[in-house]
Amino acid sequence: MKSEKYIKGILKGLNRYLTFFLVVAFAITCCMMLFVSTLIDNLGIVLTDQNVNAAAVLTFWNVLFISLIFTVIDVIRRKLTVERPVKRITDAAEKMAQGDFTVRIEPQSRFSIYGIFDRIITCFNKLAEELGSVETLRTDFIANVSHEMKTPLAVMQNYGTLLQASELSDEKRIEYAKGVADGSRRLADMMTNILKLNRLENQQIYPQTTEFDLGEQLCECLLQYENVWEKAEIEIDTDIAENVKVRADAELLSLVWNNLFSNAFKFTEAGGIVSVTLTVTDHHAIVKVRDTGCGMSPEVGTHIFEKFYQGDTSHSVQGNGLGLALVKRVMDIMQGEIGVESTLGKGTTFTVKIRRA
Ligand code: ADP
Repeated sequence: MKSEKYIKGILKGLNRYLTFFLVVAFAITCCMMLFVSTLIDNLGIVLTDQNVNAAAVLTFWNVLFISLIFTVIDVIRRKLTVERPVKRITDAAEKMAQGDFTVRIEPQSRFSIYGIFDRIITCFNKLAEELGSVETLRTDFIANVSHEMKTPLAVMQNYGTLLQASELSDEKRIEYAKGVADGSRRLADMMTNILKLNRLENQQIYPQTTEFDLGEQLCECLLQYENVWEKAEIEIDTDIAENVKVRADAELLSLVWNNLFSNAFKFTEAGGIVSVTLTVTDHHAIVKVRDTGCGMSPEVGTHIFEKFYQGDTSHSVQGNGLGLALVKRVMDIMQGEIGVESTLGKGTTFTVKIRRA
């Protein structure tokens, strides 16, 4: 293997030497012929065979020597300016191919004399950075999903074991069976949300845009929670402008309202108020969902749109931390805006701004 490489190196060197020899020989022969013929014409010098032979031998050795110098200079130049940077890039690429995305290449020189290599190096470093962050997202996502699945599965396992006891009152049996049903519902909800999020993150074309009345859609979504607010004794307050048309994917947008409403009811105690308002400006429709619930700290507020983030652990069994990540993704797709204002212990207001039709 090593000798093969050695022979290849020698052949490459000979090849370069031969090329230089031919180029130098051609250039020197042309110059010499021009020089000698000018001398003969102008000075009338007569050349003998002996003179010519001696000069030819000397010139031949000269050409051999000059070609050798050119070859050596060329080899050194190539090593420094081509082979060295290419080797650094291929070494780094090999490491990346093996899954190491932390690899980065130092730029060639501070003065950027290597132009194209510096550009390749900059692109390579950018690529490694992007792939690294995608990889982190992927591994974090898998870790989160497995973690989130473990809790309901453990609960279901527990209730399943309890249900196996021979002497169980009807009351206990119903309670344990309900525990199993709740756990499986949580798992199913989480899977549905993961699939929705996955679809939204990968889908690029959203063909179902239609023009519809936003106020009507808000009322329809809100009415689905009638049982919830009645049971929780929460007061509802609405101020919805009429005839506000938007052009959007209605199904996607209803996902936003459902998540905001369900959170508002979830985080508001009995006797609280949830209010929904729709107002318009020249180009935008603005929806505010306000509640007088537990609110959140500024620290929690900065993370709520992240996947699997749950700020309020006392309600964690009622959700999976994916709702607002979905809402944010929908807003990004629709080029809308969502903002949140909240005071701990006082309440929260989500403001959604979308373009009017
Ligand atoms: P989930 O509600 O399933 O936990 P979300 O993504 O919908 O997940 O919400 C993420 C977090 O944002 C919640 O865990 C909670 O801490 C906070 N949050 C969302 N809406 C409200 C609200 N109306 N009031 C207080 N906190 C909220």
